[in-house]
Amino acid sequence: MKILIATGNPHKFSEITPLLPQHTYTGEELEYVSLADFPTLTMPPEDGLTLEDNAKIKALYAARETGLFTLSDDTGLEVDALEGRPGVHTARYAGEHANADDNNRKLLSELDGLLLERRTARFRTVACLAKPDGTHRCFGGTLEGFIGFGYRGENGFGYDPLFIVKTTRKTLAEMTPEEKNKISHRGSAFSQVAEELQSLD
Ligand code: IMP
Repeated sequence: MKILIATGNPHKFSEITPLLPQHTYTGEELEYVSLADFPTLTMPPEDGLTLEDNAKIKALYAARETGLFTLSDDTGLEVDALEGRPGVHTARYAGEHANADDNNRKLLSELDGLLLERRTARFRTVACLAKPDGTHRCFGGTLEGFIGFGYRGENGFGYDPLFIVKTTRKTLAEMTPEEKNKISHRGSAFSQVAEELQSLD
């Protein structure tokens, strides 16, 4: 059975696939493809009010258009000192065409002068599995931490060099992909998705 992961971001695809099973409990093989395999599919705008809305929009649309079981996720960074911003606007925090560096610099400047204990934050992921008939289930995961004072580490993507994990005091960019997946927001949401995929028949 082919499962579409509704992302065109190769970093995300390679972070997600090791979290997912190769077979269902009944022994059917599961093969994962990404939006890179559907170059003509134009995804709808992610204009939902919540992470769950956006994850659902992507999964339901791509499942209907491709006829494949589809997985999607949406992730937000909630910074307490910014009253939960950027939240659902995390990807476009520094503007519509902002890259990771633009977003990280904006975050550092908004938190300028705050001590570590005032820099608490969390990543929140909602992952949804949709079937072509429109039925779907969604699962959540969170990771608590702090926003650091500068970039640390070379791994990962997005805000990883700034995000200090509460339990390890390392940034996500200082962790290997395996270490990150074990504790991350995405790891925890997708381990629940993995259960659901294994139960497909
Ligand atoms: P998306 O919902 O996965 O597209 O992510 C929204 C925004 O959060 C993008 O700017 C991503 O770069 C960032 N982001 C998502 N997941 C992570 C992560 O695990 N670490 C750091 N940044 C992330």
